[in-house]
Amino acid sequence: MFINLLTIGLSPTLEAPSRISNRNPLHLLVNRSSSPIDKLPMTPKGKSTPRKATDKTPSKTALKKAEAAAKRQAKEEKKAFDEKKESYAENFLRILDETVANGEVARMTQSTGGIQIKWNNLLQSTAGRARYNIASPRSSGADPKYTALIELNPKILDSEDRILCTATHEYCHVANGLISRQDGHGPSFHQWGARCVEAMASHQEYGGGRIKVTTKHSYEIDYKYVWVCQLCEKKFGRSSKSINPERQRCPCAGGPGLLVQVKPKPRAKKAAGTEDKENESPRL
Ligand SMILES: [Zn+2]
Ligand SMILES: [Zn+2]
Repeated sequence: MFINLLTIGLSPTLEAPSRISNRNPLHLLVNRSSSPIDKLPMTPKGKSTPRKATDKTPSKTALKKAEAAAKRQAKEEKKAFDEKKESYAENFLRILDETVANGEVARMTQSTGGIQIKWNNLLQSTAGRARYNIASPRSSGADPKYTALIELNPKILDSEDRILCTATHEYCHVANGLISRQDGHGPSFHQWGARCVEAMASHQEYGGGRIKVTTKHSYEIDYKYVWVCQLCEKKFGRSSKSINPERQRCPCAGGPGLLVQVKPKPRAKKAAGTEDKENESPRL
C-alpha cells in the first residue's frame, strides 16, 4: 500500500528520528540480572590478587603457555563470531520482516537496497540505532522513496542473543516509522514489539524466548550516570552519582576492573553555552 504524501516530520536525508535520540539518547546495555549494580563489591583494601611469590608449581612457563592458549582460543572464538555476525544479523532481519510483516519493509525499501545494516564502531553506549526516511516523489503519481538503515554496535553486540534483541528493537523502529508512520517508543512501537515476539516465538532457530523487545530493561535503561569497566566493557548505570570508582571496581574475571564514567561525559574544557545540551545528535 503506497500513499503519495509529502515527507512528514522526517528530513529528506537519512537521519534518526530526532525525537528518539532526544528523548532517549542512550540505548544502554545495562543488564540488571547479570550485573547487579547493587552488588558491586568494594575493592578489598590492601588485598590484591593473592599469588604467592614462592609458589613455583606450576612453573611460570606452563602458566604462561596456558594463558596464551586461553587467549588464543578466546581470540579464535571472537574471530569466528565476528566473521558470521554480519550474515547472521542480515539473515535474521530478512526472516523477521518476512515473518512479522510479510516482507513489507523489504518491499518498501527495495529501490533503495532494502534494509541496510551497518556495524558502526563509533556508537558508544548505544547497542543499536535505526534511521529511516520517507522521501516524497519528484513527480506526482510516483511512489515515495523509503530508506531504512539499522546500525549495530560491535562493541556491545558480542553474542547472538544480543544481536537478535537489538536488531528486533531497531526493526520495530523501522516498521513503526515506515509502515505505521510513528516515531519513538509509543504504543505503536510496543505493538510492533509484541508482534515480533509473538511471530518469532515458535521459530526453530530464533524462538524459545530468545527475542525480547524492551525499552526499559536491559537494553535501554536511560540512566543518568554510567560507568564502564575498562576490562570487560560492562556498563553500570545509576540514577545518581553513587558509584565511586576510587573504591568500587567491576567484579569481572581478570579484574577487578577500573570503572570510568562515560555519562555524563566528563568534559574537557569547552566553549560555554554547549554545556547543558544533552542530545546525542547522530554523528553520521
Ligand atoms: Zn529504541
Ligand atoms: Zn569488568
